[in-house]
Amino acid sequence: MDLTLSPSEEAFRDELRAWLADNHPGEDPPDDDAAFEHRRVWQKKLYDAGYAGFSWPKEYGGRGATLIEQALFGEEMARAKAPSPANVLGMVMGGPVVIAHGDDTQKERWLKPILTGDEIWCQGFSEPESGSDLASLKTRAVKSNGEWVVTGQKVWTTYAHKAKWCMLVARTDQDAQKHAGLTYFIMDMEQEEVQVRPLRQITGEAEFNELFIEEARIPDENVVGGVGNGWTVAITTLMHERAGLGASAAAGMRIALNELGELARERGVTDDPVIRQRLAQLAIEVELLRLNAWRGLTAIMKTGIPGPEGSVVKWQWGELNQSLTELAVDILGEDGALWDSPWTYRFLRSRANSIEGGTTEILKNIVAERVLGLPKLR
Ligand SMILES: Cc1cc2nc3c(=O)[nH]c(=O)nc-3n(C[C@H](O)[C@H](O)[C@H](O)COP(=O)(O)OP(=O)(O)OC[C@H]3O[C@@H](n4cnc5c(N)ncnc54)[C@H](O)[C@@H]3O)c2cc1C
Repeated sequence: MDLTLSPSEEAFRDELRAWLADNHPGEDPPDDDAAFEHRRVWQKKLYDAGYAGFSWPKEYGGRGATLIEQALFGEEMARAKAPSPANVLGMVMGGPVVIAHGDDTQKERWLKPILTGDEIWCQGFSEPESGSDLASLKTRAVKSNGEWVVTGQKVWTTYAHKAKWCMLVARTDQDAQKHAGLTYFIMDMEQEEVQVRPLRQITGEAEFNELFIEEARIPDENVVGGVGNGWTVAITTLMHERAGLGASAAAGMRIALNELGELARERGVTDDPVIRQRLAQLAIEVELLRLNAWRGLTAIMKTGIPGPEGSVVKWQWGELNQSLTELAVDILGEDGALWDSPWTYRFLRSRANSIEGGTTEILKNIVAERVLGLPKLR
């Protein structure tokens, strides 16, 4: 792939950079709820300027941006350290799934409030005993009088406490083979039959939750992609989750590396040969991540859909962010144990990077089987 930008791509990047310089919302406030509201306001601003759902087709309220423009958008947002919009799961996963598998009524009902941030979405896939092996999930949906009655438990549901809608995968056929008996629903979270309990993370935040679902109701028109087709629709969600990460993750890592270099200078450790070697290794890996992100983009350009290459980038990014923040904490020494150091927060939060969005081991299996064509383990 030719990595040189065309004049129109350069013009787009400059226009976006200038817009961000004028409209950057500043850092999130420290309080979790206030930070979320700050991101909701930011999302509305992005929407009003035509930057929300930037990659979505124009007919659905997006800009129909090219893949290169999407990559530039992610890079510029990371470069400016702009916060994520509040409805990140709706924009990255929910909307693309409804566009790919939803009917016209569903598109009409759900897409615009996803973009404006008026309705927040969460992803109800994982269960206490089904994470990597998602198709083994046990939450059941039974049809009764034209609607679905759902009972089960979900876990690690990010932003469930803020969400209006949940992308829920449930078992609708107990007798079918495990992948075949699943259906993808959009469940209204505003019902008493859905109880949300926060789970506190190592960072002190409660970003995710447990969901206890006891005979919740979902109308038949909220099935996406057809009954029994849930596995295919869920895979679309996951591929979009990983593909969405590439260019912005690489740009974010480049910035973090520069900050780490700054920290090493401040702490007077730039002559330490071990620190120098670790910094150099990180610099190599940041560049590799960038090139692989663009390689993933080339694959999407050829096939039209995100492919397994997104798994390489997610895996590399997770390991890289963990190594980078580990080095920061090593440089900080005993100060790394201070709760209010931003590096300590980043170090603690990075522990989740090799679990969220697919564990590193699962991503390696995908790369082995679907990128390298190695035989399946089982
Ligand atoms: C910050 C964060 C946010 C999240 N948000 C959401 C969300 O919004 N919605 C949602 O549905 N889920 C969410 N998750 C859950 C996440 O998707 C799961 O944690 C992940 O899929 C792993 O599942 P598990 O935790 O059940 O671990 P398990 O699947 O039980 O895995 C345990 C260990 O075994 C390894 N392992 C499992 N199977 C294999 C295999 N076949 N080969 C090799 N090794 C294997 C794993 O790599 C892991 O190390 C989130 C997780 C985190 C950390």
